[in-house]
Amino acid sequence: MKQGFIVLISGPSGVGKGTLINSLLADKSLNLTFSVSMTTRKPRPNEKHGVHYFFVSHETFLENIERNNFLEHAQFVGNRYGTPRDYVYTLLNKGKNVLVEIEVDGACQLLNSVPKDQVLSLYIMPPTVEDLIKRLRHRGSEDEATIMQRAERFKEEVKYKDLYQWTIINDDLQTCIDEVKALIRGKINS
Ligand code: 5GP
Repeated sequence: MKQGFIVLISGPSGVGKGTLINSLLADKSLNLTFSVSMTTRKPRPNEKHGVHYFFVSHETFLENIERNNFLEHAQFVGNRYGTPRDYVYTLLNKGKNVLVEIEVDGACQLLNSVPKDQVLSLYIMPPTVEDLIKRLRHRGSEDEATIMQRAERFKEEVKYKDLYQWTIINDDLQTCIDEVKALIRGKINS
């Protein structure tokens, strides 16, 4: 059986990654499975263990680092996040394509440790920082100070966008979804 490949997606929060990812996962022709990360962050009310994340203690997370169980791991705003190596490779070996949605630091590690032809990497960005701020305000889930912190973080992160094979500007969501699907199909057929 042909091994699957990793679809690596990064981009600032508020850029529309959630909707994009749901739409990719719903398209069965892409043969995608979401990689469930491990995190020390507390679950949000709608989140389920094993579905959105594997929620673990700091001790458990550190044990997993020591056992080299992560394909990559990073810290983000006071919590740790990591991609379980076995989980991803079990799926890849079953011929599944695996969707990994992580921040830039972890993406850098992953791109350095996985063969290039096994990954399709995409950085999703807003047309402008002002646009991102507008979207975050519209979403209404963060206060103004947090929105500004996220906008500043984006300005730092975007410096690394050239690490990715593709940069997609999410100006119109449907166009963005179509572009990403076309790239995944291209990789499936390559
Ligand atoms: P949140 O707490 O909002 O779910 O995620 C915060 C950030 O952590 C997001 O940018 C998300 O992409 C990133 N993230 C989620 N899982 C992982 C992971 O396994 N590794 C890394 N490096 N980042 C992750």
